[in-house]
Amino acid sequence: MAELKLYNTLTRKKEKFVPIKKGEVGMYSCGPTVYWFQHIGNIRAYLFVDTLKRILEYNGYKVKHVINVTDVGHLTSDADEGEDKMEKAAAKEGKKAEEIAEFYFKVFKEDLKKLNIKEPSVWSKATEHIKEQIELIKKLEEKGFTYETSDGIYFDSLKFKDYGKLAKLNIGGLESGKRIGVGEKKHKTDFALWKFSEEEGKRQQEWDSPWGVGFPGWHIECSAMSMKHLGEHFDIHTGGEDHIPIHHTNEIAQSECATGKKFVNYWMHNAFLVDNAGEKVSKSKGGLFTISDLEEKGYAALDFRYLFLLTHYRKPLSFSLETLDAARNAYKRMKRKVVELKKEKHKAQDNSDEYENKFLDAVNDDLNMPRALDVVWTMLDDFNFEPKKKLKLLEKFDEVLGLNIKEMKEEEVDVPKEVMELVKEREKLRKAKLWEESDLFRERIREKGFVVQDTDEGPRLEKL
Ligand code: AMP
Ligand code: ZN
Repeated sequence: MAELKLYNTLTRKKEKFVPIKKGEVGMYSCGPTVYWFQHIGNIRAYLFVDTLKRILEYNGYKVKHVINVTDVGHLTSDADEGEDKMEKAAAKEGKKAEEIAEFYFKVFKEDLKKLNIKEPSVWSKATEHIKEQIELIKKLEEKGFTYETSDGIYFDSLKFKDYGKLAKLNIGGLESGKRIGVGEKKHKTDFALWKFSEEEGKRQQEWDSPWGVGFPGWHIECSAMSMKHLGEHFDIHTGGEDHIPIHHTNEIAQSECATGKKFVNYWMHNAFLVDNAGEKVSKSKGGLFTISDLEEKGYAALDFRYLFLLTHYRKPLSFSLETLDAARNAYKRMKRKVVELKKEKHKAQDNSDEYENKFLDAVNDDLNMPRALDVVWTMLDDFNFEPKKKLKLLEKFDEVLGLNIKEMKEEEVDVPKEVMELVKEREKLRKAKLWEESDLFRERIREKGFVVQDTDEGPRLEKL
């Protein structure tokens, strides 16, 4: 059996996956900051995690998966500057921060459902773990890793000799003593563990702490919550690649300094979803889509899932409505093939083992989903493979693909009367072998938004 290999950002290598506890995996994924809709760039991060989790399960592992929900403390700059994203959104929308968090979290979960993304074992909200975060900061303080400025409690990054090992940062080359607000950090790479409220009672979200009223920094939440749910040392931690130099670097520093142990064995990161020009899509740049935006344009969430599968998770995923169209067409073709397969009855050989091995080779090679899809297509086109067995195997592969293979059935299209008339006219022309004239009718049908296909059972219509 092909062994599972995963690319570890820590070593910049594909490594054989060896769990800490036999047969089990503890996995933590940096989740949404719930101040706005998650855009399709964010969604790529969750599709990556879902695929990873499905592959681990496919290999027989029992996965305990934790995703955090950042509902406080994520500032507009990842480097402890700017406003709190939640507070800012609450002020703008004239609502309570909790209401904002609840609303966007709900929409997010609805999107996950549409995308066939499995829910984690634990959703972990930052505001529900203030106590754990304070305890962790206290531990770091006792061990001498913290200092106080006028605006908060900071982690002294240079006291951790391995600081920056994940991102391979050149600490010496980074300028130090950058001014922040009224206070001053000792080193540029130091970061806030606890921020003081500027003026008590002004913020919606603030808590008492041994250092004064305030709120936790963004990085500490992930260390505190992952260790609470998965232990001080666990298997896999994921996130978008933007988290490598700051967020995950800081998580490692504060966790390993607090426990004296290695924090995580495998760090895995997805590359960005980018636009035509190869630029990262982000909220600040505009032009971003949510899953609902795509639905409004007539796409299904699973068309996006199919598009995601076409690019390896460590390569930029180039998004445009044209690439989405191409994915939708391929996914439609797959549906048609599956529907035909369900009707096919001819006898042929059993090629299950061959395809099963090839599929496993692909998915176990650091989630090579484009290669796995190639295997699927070759298998679908293999006429010498017994249809029933083929379908059964495809349904098994769908445990990883998440494309709803079992539910695929003939699409019932509502065809307007005028289009039906055109189809009938075209059939008459075809019978009379007037091909050019019949093609003109095909074009007219297309203009009305339908594609006509000629099958053994007569013309079949599909929506464009
Ligand atoms: P956020 O809600 O901003 O905290 O981000 C949630 C997740 O989405 C994080 O893991 C980010 O690294 C990831 N992410 C943000 N933008 C993109 C993008 N354009 N492409 C892929 N992943 C992204
Ligand atoms: Zn995180």
